[in-house]
Amino acid sequence: SSENADAKNLRVKLVLLGDSGVGKSCIVLRFVRGEFDTTSKVTVGASFLSQTIALQDSTTVKFEIWDTAGQERFAVIVYDITSPESFKKAQYWVKELQKHGAPDIVMALVGNKADLHEKREVLTDDGMELAEKNGMFFIDTSAKTADNINQLFEVLCISLWPQEI
Ligand code: GDP
Ligand code: MG
Repeated sequence: SSENADAKNLRVKLVLLGDSGVGKSCIVLRFVRGEFDTTSKVTVGASFLSQTIALQDSTTVKFEIWDTAGQERFAVIVYDITSPESFKKAQYWVKELQKHGAPDIVMALVGNKADLHEKREVLTDDGMELAEKNGMFFIDTSAKTADNINQLFEVLCISLWPQEI
């Protein structure tokens, strides 16, 4: 409750990167509004949404989610598990962030559209390996079924307490 003396309210910035069509906007809409919309709308300009999650110890973390880059604390790189092309693009984004991102940026690699497992063309192991090599979290998600969407954001929160890892 808000009366808990240990309660903390944190705010963090997050940017989503990845090929067009991998499901970045859908992941955000699933997380923020609990919705999935199959009609694809291309993101125009910089869109901004925020969502707060409550952790077990009465801490809340407010994610300010931007489509554009700049001073982000968290970067989420998304690929589509049915698209090797989008995985290549994800590798490119990992390199770019290593070069130009803030040194303390926390990165997660996300294999989205996990519900399309019959059409999978990128091995989970390949995603995990890329993530591990670059000190990133790795998670498979589906914006469609909501699988692992909250977990993605929760896992990022772990890094807010580095001393506890
Ligand atoms: P963005 O360009 O990365 O923002 O991609 P969008 O969020 O606009 O999604 C592109 C297309 O992929 C849309 O047609 C979505 O309906 C579809 N899509 C997004 N996430 C998923 C998912 O988890 N599963 C499936 N099957 N389709 C998805
Ligand atoms: Mg989009």
